[in-house]
Amino acid sequence: MKDYLIRVMTTNKEIRALAVNSTQVVSNAQQAHATTPVATAALGRALSAALLMGSMVKTGHETGLKIIGDGPLQKIIAEANHYGEVRGYVANPEVDFITNQAGKLDVARAIGEGELFVYKNMGLKEEYESSVPLVSGEIGEDITYYFSKSEQTPAAVALGVLVDTDCSVKAAGGFIIQLLPEASEETIEQLEKNLAEIKSVSKLIDQGLSPEELLEKVLTGFKFRVLAEREVAYQCKCDRERTKSLLVSLGQQEIEEIVAQEGQVEIRCHFCGEVYSFEEAEVEELFTKVKSMNQLD
Ligand SMILES: [Zn+2]
Repeated sequence: MKDYLIRVMTTNKEIRALAVNSTQVVSNAQQAHATTPVATAALGRALSAALLMGSMVKTGHETGLKIIGDGPLQKIIAEANHYGEVRGYVANPEVDFITNQAGKLDVARAIGEGELFVYKNMGLKEEYESSVPLVSGEIGEDITYYFSKSEQTPAAVALGVLVDTDCSVKAAGGFIIQLLPEASEETIEQLEKNLAEIKSVSKLIDQGLSPEELLEKVLTGFKFRVLAEREVAYQCKCDRERTKSLLVSLGQQEIEEIVAQEGQVEIRCHFCGEVYSFEEAEVEELFTKVKSMNQLD
């Protein structure tokens, strides 16, 4: 099954919902970063959430999640745009296998206590950032809390990644359900009842449920209309030119020292693992160009 997401609205206009199958996305991320199972689960949940939240921003805008915790994973970044492109990484992809008492991957313990930041890049380099403390470290609950606290929209967020015994990704995805201001008491009660029935979103995806079928389950008793459907993919936006500006920001002296020692300088993209290497001549040319541009200022 192809990875895609859908955005729907109930016909009574009381609930907005999104669901995604991100199995291939998370699998690509797992391979790019060689993440251990608990790191895969954490990164995969963050990537799935970023995809769902990315589809809620306007065309051309981007959104990202940054989770900073005191657990061994340290930091998770996931960012997505309106077009269904997402990328991300964890600071420590090699974190040891951690399971909880139920024998499940313990994402909360791997993340620890900390903070969730949500940023929105609305073009023109304007970044809007807000943060909430982590309430559980399970990511889904933390984003639920973010919606109620920062966006003042009651929401239910479920995210899941099923990792196979060989560390590969069996299933991944999730949903976000938002109650609109018109929601009645009956709607809220029915929705709560439906949500209580859903034990594991990743298992449902593993059973073959599509995003539509997932929402049919969550929205039992409601009719809904699909407003948008979009393919999603793990897609990095790094390139050689952007990497050059990173070199410049690191400073001429530091870069030249590395080149003198190693004969070249290598920059590895955090998001996709791509390595860009620059030889002495290219580094020299770059800083000469920067210098002449600075003189023009
Ligand atoms: Zn990259």
